[in-house]
Amino acid sequence: MKIAVYPGSFDPVTMGHMDIIRRGAQMFDKLVVSVLINTNKKSLFTMEERVELLKKSVEGAGLTNVEVSSFSGLLADYTEQIGACTIVRGLRAVTDFENEFQLALINRKLNPNADTVFLVTSAENMYLSSSLVREVGSFGGDISEFVPPEVIGQVTARLVNKAE
Ligand code: ADP
Repeated sequence: MKIAVYPGSFDPVTMGHMDIIRRGAQMFDKLVVSVLINTNKKSLFTMEERVELLKKSVEGAGLTNVEVSSFSGLLADYTEQIGACTIVRGLRAVTDFENEFQLALINRKLNPNADTVFLVTSAENMYLSSSLVREVGSFGGDISEFVPPEVIGQVTARLVNKAE
């Protein structure tokens, strides 16, 4: 069974993430989407909220071979722990590349059994990021095209509350 892990902050999940999840799910027997608990990076949504939003979105998209989880510590260890042979990451622009390249090299050094694959964003999602969603949403802007339909209400409410 080929298992892949798609790690990220997902703060919150966007249509860009969903596109990568959908495509990744077609390539592997199981795709584990995992929320990274990063104590250095301040998140707006709690880990539980991020997991819940992902679960609702994945369920709504009818993706039955996708599992949502969270982890802290080293991705290389987590990959080993769940028996994943591949790490999936998305690439939007050249600006993503350098950081992603470095991460991929470090992760392979730490766990030579897992390789990183990059899925190139779909053109319509190229500009899309969680930070853009947070910014537009907190000023009351319409984020309905940016986040999965199942979670628009929850994400909007949370961002507006936060801004007040
Ligand atoms: P991180 O903090 O790990 O970068 P993110 O949640 O921002 O977490 O992103 C997780 C992964 O999804 C990264 O590989 C990122 O490049 C990718 N990603 C984010 N937005 C998009 C998008 N619009 N299109 C394709 N990939 C994306």
